[in-house]
Amino acid sequence: MIPRLRPLIGAREVRAALTPPRGGDCERFEVAFAGLVGARYALAFPYGRSALLLLLEALGLRDCEVITPAITCVVVPHAVVCSGNRPVFVDVEEGGFNMDLALVPPRVTGRTGAIIATSMYGYPCDLDMLEAVRARFPRDIPVIQDCALTLDARWKGRPVHKAGVAACYSLNISKVVSSIFGGVVATDSEALHARLQVLRDERLRPASWGKGLKRLLYLLAILPVFSPPIYALVNKLERSGLLNRFTYPIEEDQVIGMPRDYLEGMAGIEARVGIANLRRFDEVVRRRREAAEVYFQHLNLDGFVLPPRLENSTYSHFVVRVSRRDEWLERCLRRGLQLGQVVPYSVPELPSYGAHRPDEFPRAAQVARTVINLPIWGGRRLAERVVDIVREVHREIEGQV
Ligand SMILES: *Cc1c(COP(=O)(O)O)cnc(C)c1O
Repeated sequence: MIPRLRPLIGAREVRAALTPPRGGDCERFEVAFAGLVGARYALAFPYGRSALLLLLEALGLRDCEVITPAITCVVVPHAVVCSGNRPVFVDVEEGGFNMDLALVPPRVTGRTGAIIATSMYGYPCDLDMLEAVRARFPRDIPVIQDCALTLDARWKGRPVHKAGVAACYSLNISKVVSSIFGGVVATDSEALHARLQVLRDERLRPASWGKGLKRLLYLLAILPVFSPPIYALVNKLERSGLLNRFTYPIEEDQVIGMPRDYLEGMAGIEARVGIANLRRFDEVVRRRREAAEVYFQHLNLDGFVLPPRLENSTYSHFVVRVSRRDEWLERCLRRGLQLGQVVPYSVPELPSYGAHRPDEFPRAAQVARTVINLPIWGGRRLAERVVDIVREVHREIEGQV
């Protein structure tokens, strides 16, 4: 069985997890993180969504409208709502996966408090477009870069995470690198960093001993889960949502809310595992780019719409669009290839966000209904195996029509 995702976590991370806490683990993690992304400051949080929520608070936003992509992780609008603000959705760009920045100016009002630009699937936000659009706003509106799916997005060489007041990140186990769970806000602004730090100290309670233990057990549990024979066994459970439940304890797309422990600080063990895993970042990205290259070369198939080919993408997911998605998932699975479907919803269509009709956010609707993602974590060799299976399934599906 080839799993749709597999974190690059091994002996190094387990060793780090089992190292006795020394105090200052989180600070060391923050220094390592800031160093990797080249930010002056980084602050650690229990989840990416907690990071975003407190960042919105630190920016002083309340009862504001926050411009949010229609295609993003649903926990992003949850954080907006839970911070006392309201998401205003914007459709996805033509042919890509990021928010269509050209559609932002008409959504800006007197109440707009921030714009959450997102680099979906590792595709950098178009900074030229962002600048052009900002020049049309009547006043300066803070831009938050959601870099949860990429630690090093660059638009024509310029780091995306610096094109705003701050960037927020997620390091849960399904992301490119991981601290088990965990989130970060990185910024170059001394004033914002100071404000956010005070707010964090006020609002977050220190991680309990029990949290550290739970995180350790979680880490030890997921390692065997991701080994191929066991993964095949748990696949049935996984398909019923086990893995999602691992990362997302509540029914995220049904209910607006935050996990119970969203205000309990990052545990020392998460910080230590995070430091170890950050060191693998270059290798993780190299493998992903190699796999993507194989897919671009060998999967030019009818009705199998490849993603944009951008030199700087860090590919959190390799996203293809197909019309008969369920059939693809099922047939690949029968051959031992598990495909993912991230993100399978357009947020404004969810009942909790107003159940907008598909024609109000047509491109997001289309993306949500057609995306599949190919395993991208295993470099060239694994990608070649995936190519063989995908070509076979493609022949079958095409042969039927
Ligand atoms: C994963 C993710 C987040 C935040 O995730 P947490 O699970 O809260 O750490 C935010 N934005 C995007 C685009 C994501 O994919």
